[in-house]
Amino acid sequence: MEIKITPRKATDRGGYACMPLKENIPLGRPDWRLTTCPRCGRECWARPLLKITMAQDAVALCTECALREGAEQE
Ligand SMILES: [Zn+2]
Repeated sequence: MEIKITPRKATDRGGYACMPLKENIPLGRPDWRLTTCPRCGRECWARPLLKITMAQDAVALCTECALREGAEQE
């Protein structure tokens, strides 16, 4: 018997995690951590849930880079 509590499937690996760009959400939230996108170097927000996604070998990118990568994957 399997219990799945995460939004992602347990078998999900890799992929991309979206970080909202600071220029889109200037103030963020108290539990968000300011970081930079490894792809374009712009400031963006790492949300707490990101840790879980990162544990599945995902790459954290800003929303724009993640969208671009997602488009390339299809
Ligand atoms: Zn980026």
